[in-house]
Amino acid sequence: MTVASSKSLHDLSFSELTRILSEEGVILHHAKVLWRVIHGLGEIDLSDHPFLPPLRRWINANVGEGKAYFLELPEVVDEIHSSDGMTRKFLLRLRDGQIIETVLMSYDGRQTVCVSTQAGCAMGCVFCATGQMGFSRHLSPGEIVAQVLHARRVLKTVDPRKRIRNMVLMGMGEPLHNYDAVMVALETLSDRRGAGIGPTKISISTVGVVPSILRLANEQRPYRLAVSLHGSTEEERSALVPASKKWPLHSLIDACKKYGSITGKRIFFEWTLIAGKNDSTETAQRLVALLHGIDAHINLIPLNPTGGFSGSQSDSGSKFQKILIAGGFPCTFRQRRGIDVAAGCGMLKADKIGKSI
Ligand code: SAH
Ligand code: SF4
Repeated sequence: MTVASSKSLHDLSFSELTRILSEEGVILHHAKVLWRVIHGLGEIDLSDHPFLPPLRRWINANVGEGKAYFLELPEVVDEIHSSDGMTRKFLLRLRDGQIIETVLMSYDGRQTVCVSTQAGCAMGCVFCATGQMGFSRHLSPGEIVAQVLHARRVLKTVDPRKRIRNMVLMGMGEPLHNYDAVMVALETLSDRRGAGIGPTKISISTVGVVPSILRLANEQRPYRLAVSLHGSTEEERSALVPASKKWPLHSLIDACKKYGSITGKRIFFEWTLIAGKNDSTETAQRLVALLHGIDAHINLIPLNPTGGFSGSQSDSGSKFQKILIAGGFPCTFRQRRGIDVAAGCGMLKADKIGKSI
């Protein structure tokens, strides 16, 4: 068995793991014990656990370097703290050398982990550092799960009383471009016997992959949906978000309406304010009209500096917000966290890629 054909134990869903083990004569109760050790305790060294014979035999034969499965967390290339100590960014190296980023944030006493779903991103948004890197590959379910297990481990050493209860898919990559792997990872991470992050505390942020938004609705996935909009007309949006040429604004808005009527859930719209591009009062008025009939909350994001674009002045931002509120939409400003460690949105640029580290 070569390493290339070896798979992470973190990749397996609960049902896959129990099926594989039952074929080897391991009873369901023992499979659950293994699941708790891996996902609940976050252990990666199984050698000391007193597993009973069929399970112990299976582990010895199948888990380890050069065997069918491996169990490990990514190597930490770097850990950077913001000056206020509330944000930690981890630069993590995957087995094939790809580098991704995960962020652990402490907001108002709540611990939130921001994970990557791809190495790079194919969507090319012009103001986003990840988009400018291009796409390398999708992450596997286990590579998404392992980011949370790593962040949890760090949090335990910092303050063992705290737990990660919130998760946002707002790191590198477009989660709905990697739908199947993301759904397996989210099922695992929301499992109460594992990391136990409540499904309603998990936000999937998308650039607007229309077919996947409809799929999320039809499959009645319990997660929160955030749509990164940034433009109120086809022209305004596609100048910032090239993916808008593939999934035009009108079809995205239609999909959001369908999502709302199928699920009955509110949609969060993300709007990065960029000076002179999408922060005028006319744009705000058009946005009010565009979102008419949708149960929407708008999150205004101050642009994080990635070169080339400038963020809106705070007075245009607050005018923009007032128009949306007057139009009947809850509208809040996203707190800027971790800007000094390049851990803000769109700044998750794996700047070490390409260097021999
Ligand atoms: N691909 C997904 C999720 C990752 S990006 C998406 O686009 O939604 C997460 C959020 O960061 C998105 O709302 C995105 O628009 C925003 N973002 C990207 N670059 C940014 C920047 N330079 N400043 C502020 N927000 C940015
Ligand atoms: Fe990709 Fe999101 Fe960045 Fe756009 S904003 S390039 S979709 S990560």
